Amino acid sequence: MPIQRRKRFFLIVISLLVLSGFVITSLIGYYVAKDSISSQLREEMLPLTSDNIYSEIQRDLLTPLLISSLMANDTFLREWVEQGEQDAERISNYLEQIQRKYNTITAFFVSDKTMNYYHPSGILKQLDEGDAADRWYFRSRALRDDYEINIDLDTADRSRLSIFVNYQVKDERGRLIGVTGVGLSMEAVGQLIESYQRRYGRQIYFVDRQGEVTLHGESFDEQLHLQNREGLQKLFTRILTSPSASVEFQAEDGRTIYLNSRLVPEFDWYLVVEQVGYPDSQKVESALIFNLLLSLVICVVVLLIAHFTLRGHQRRLEDMATRDKLTGVISRQVFEEVYERAAKDAQRREQPLSLILLDIDHFKKINDDFGHHLGDEVLVGFANLTQRHIRREDVLCRWGGEEFLVLLENCDIERATEIANQLREQVKHHAFHSSQQSLQITISAGVAQLQPGESMSMLLRRCDKALYQAKNEGRDRVISI
Ligand code: GH3
Ligand code: MG
Ligand code: MG
Repeated sequence: MPIQRRKRFFLIVISLLVLSGFVITSLIGYYVAKDSISSQLREEMLPLTSDNIYSEIQRDLLTPLLISSLMANDTFLREWVEQGEQDAERISNYLEQIQRKYNTITAFFVSDKTMNYYHPSGILKQLDEGDAADRWYFRSRALRDDYEINIDLDTADRSRLSIFVNYQVKDERGRLIGVTGVGLSMEAVGQLIESYQRRYGRQIYFVDRQGEVTLHGESFDEQLHLQNREGLQKLFTRILTSPSASVEFQAEDGRTIYLNSRLVPEFDWYLVVEQVGYPDSQKVESALIFNLLLSLVICVVVLLIAHFTLRGHQRRLEDMATRDKLTGVISRQVFEEVYERAAKDAQRREQPLSLILLDIDHFKKINDDFGHHLGDEVLVGFANLTQRHIRREDVLCRWGGEEFLVLLENCDIERATEIANQLREQVKHHAFHSSQQSLQITISAGVAQLQPGESMSMLLRRCDKALYQAKNEGRDRVISI
């Protein structure tokens, strides 16, 4: 695999590993948090709300039950019936007092003997078993329990739907003598439920044993039967067959709904508390998004670090291959490539291209007199000096030993000779320092300009020839050819 492709593959694998690691841990964290919140909601929070509401209901809604029970056991009421229901005003006053004192919308007594319906305003009517409106009485008197809670139209005002407590009144021997009780307006009960809903921030309502919604707040949406609720069809029997249940289901709009139900034995109804979603869902979701973004950022950073580290290493490796270890200038191995490109450019742009071959004079003697190490230092110093002398776009190459090449683009032979001479002068007057020694050297150079159709080796040969001539003519000189 080519190095570039291998690098890309490596980077992709690294980023996939980092990213998938982060994404997996973020998602696990998210689902664990979500799960623990929803089970907390199901197992603790909703049942707690239900308990609280139940105790409030006992206070608010069971009061009418208590009043009705007091009425049913009131000796005044019993004696008055036993004494032949004389003076209807007495019972009307009694009912009126109850109504006023407990702020109910109605208070009533139906005598089983006379079938009279007594009300604070007097005898309203005589009940008739054949009348559908009076059927409630015959149902209540036949109850096995002492009372029932019932929603019905008020006998005193047929337009008003009310919640009634119908309590059986019995004589000392336990024989039924009538049914008494109070009624609350549905509106008032609705407001009561509404106030619970506001306080607990949850949907609250009652259903009977068949799942029919019996009591709800004003803002209840019109799904009056549990069975009709989307997502509840399967859970519906479970809710209605156990004294309490906590379930979770998906609504039509995809939102999760948590539902808690508990049987209120006094009403024989289920109290249902519902919550859409969970309160901290937004927090958990934003934590997930934050985690994912953070993972992405970390992944990008890792990717960039890996990319730049690899690129650095790659460059160093390339440099090691292309540059001379001692002097740092480009090595003979890559010169050919550089030269070919420069020659092509020169031809295309019709610009002159020149080459200088430099050789340090009597370098062997430096090595011999001062040691190889100092010879190395001189080579480095010379290369630095030359590099500073030439233009940025010119190329300096260590051709071998103490021989260097300078490739000058867009430069004719006259200018190249001038540059070579200037460099020769500079080198001659430069003191090459080492820790102990300071010494001076001279150089010789052969200069040639590329001729049309000439190859690199031909050009080099001409430079070599010029250099040979410079050496022959006494060194420390530049010969152009
Ligand atoms: P001239 O060019 O003036 O004819 O004489 P010269 O002494 O420079 O002759 P020649 O080119 O034959 O010798 C080059 C010497 O450079 C030979 C070798 O010992 C030495 N040399 C080559 N490479 C290195 C190097 O990397 N470090 C050191 N210290 N010496 C080197
Ligand atoms: Mg030499
Ligand atoms: Mg030489």
